[in-house]
Amino acid sequence: MRIKLENGKLISGMGSANKTVDMVIEDGIISMIGDATEINADKTVDCSGKFIVPSVTDIHTHVYPGKTALGVEADEIGINQGAGTIVDAGSAGCDDYPEFYEEVIKKAHTSVKAFINYSKIGLTKDGMELSKISYFDEDKLTGVIEKYPQSIVGIKLRASASVVGDLGIEAIKRGVNFARRVKLPVMVHIGNYPPAIEEILPLLGKGDIVTHIFHGKNGGILTEKGSVKSIVRQKYEEGVIYDIGHGSASFDFGTAERGIKEGIIPFTISSDLHARSFKTKLRSLSEVMTKCLICGMEERDIIKAVTLNPTRITGGTSHIFEGQRAAIAVIEVLPIKSSYNCNTGKSYTSDRSFNISLASDKNGNIREISSQVV
Ligand SMILES: [Zn+2]
Repeated sequence: MRIKLENGKLISGMGSANKTVDMVIEDGIISMIGDATEINADKTVDCSGKFIVPSVTDIHTHVYPGKTALGVEADEIGINQGAGTIVDAGSAGCDDYPEFYEEVIKKAHTSVKAFINYSKIGLTKDGMELSKISYFDEDKLTGVIEKYPQSIVGIKLRASASVVGDLGIEAIKRGVNFARRVKLPVMVHIGNYPPAIEEILPLLGKGDIVTHIFHGKNGGILTEKGSVKSIVRQKYEEGVIYDIGHGSASFDFGTAERGIKEGIIPFTISSDLHARSFKTKLRSLSEVMTKCLICGMEERDIIKAVTLNPTRITGGTSHIFEGQRAAIAVIEVLPIKSSYNCNTGKSYTSDRSFNISLASDKNGNIREISSQVV
């Protein structure tokens, strides 16, 4: 099967920004990038005005439906929506990771990676996973991390009162110290405090990830007067990665607008799609991209935040080159209006909407994606 993508704007880590090219993909391998006018194909896709990008990557999802109430099927929110790579955020801890690997990672057409939960029970009991010392089994966790180095990209910690219970910040400190020993980054979820962001952020360094950065709950990134807290700016400048993690109640338009206006640009945009957000609060990653556009993020930064930037976390390739197994997507910005209501009742509208129209699965097979924009 030979597929030709015509006249797309190439965005790749090799710095070929906005160069208009054709791309030919033959049985999952990129056979040429350049001018393919003379080449015949089984299928030709017009990519005029669209971006050909490295695999769209969603670094915060929940895709372990067999064992967790939050889980949805990986391909349903992955490749079927154009995200060729997704990362599960802590559904499995060391007790369940081998099964998660066999049942989810191996079977999915989407490339699935994981932040393994610091707690051995992960999200299988639906909460409080960091509230008991007996849930921490560092020897077993180390063994699992050593056995699955290709798929485990970091350690997940949820820093919410409803998760850590009486252990408070102590649970987060233990998790971060463990991550330092095994040389992996942490992804820390922030939400209802305690622990407060002022206690959490000082523990983190370059390459660690904070997800739900623009949640609008008490104790978030803004001061009472509504400006960005100095510790938030300091850690941003030190290279802590700020991630969206939209979820069911973790994206606040007002907070996002303020943060972006003050120069806090999320490095990654993720959906946090799970059984309680998918379809009811959020349809797709492309919808989160459109919301970020509404809140003042630049189109180009948004595209990077779902393609080039997440490869720094997943270890995926940000380059697109001939001879490579296709790990690509086509992103378009359509002149279609999108409107959203914030929980304050205020309505936010964009006259442009992001859509992912084509993507490759983990074997390089190209799929056209049904539109995410209605
Ligand atoms: Zn989540």
